[in-house]
Amino acid sequence: MLTIDAEILEAIVAHARRDHPDEACGVVAGKIGTDRPERLVEMDNVERSSTFYRFDSMEQLRVWREMDDRDEEPVVIYHSHTATEAYPSRTDISYAGEPGAHYLLVSTRDPDVTEVRSYSIVDGAVTEEPVKVLNAAVDPHAVQKYLFGQSPTTVDYECPA
Ligand SMILES: [Zn+2]
Repeated sequence: MLTIDAEILEAIVAHARRDHPDEACGVVAGKIGTDRPERLVEMDNVERSSTFYRFDSMEQLRVWREMDDRDEEPVVIYHSHTATEAYPSRTDISYAGEPGAHYLLVSTRDPDVTEVRSYSIVDGAVTEEPVKVLNAAVDPHAVQKYLFGQSPTTVDYECPA
């Protein structure tokens, strides 16, 4: 299960909406071992594409070093889909290099409904997990407009040829 503060989730969704129709991407760092995403780092999608994202390698190096320095790890790695559902593509799966991270996907295909779903991706196996939003009571409407995955499911993918 991913547990995330409503304020951080709102900021991720705002980033995704802002970059639409390009895919947005970034990480949320947290102290090692806590599994709590606390520090949002919006990153550049060097592809500037509506169908694909890739971190800038220099920026990724800098952000990952900064996390090291602060005893943090990438608790959440997020990106958006602009025309399809919030489900990892084959490319997303093959690029997923952090087995301990929560891969959060936001779909901005519908301007009125925000689809937010979270997965673990380990060795090509995608497992959806529930998303628990904390402190949502601050703005009860903020979370109601999100469409979360219904129940966790496990899907195994063949390795791309
Ligand atoms: Zn994707």
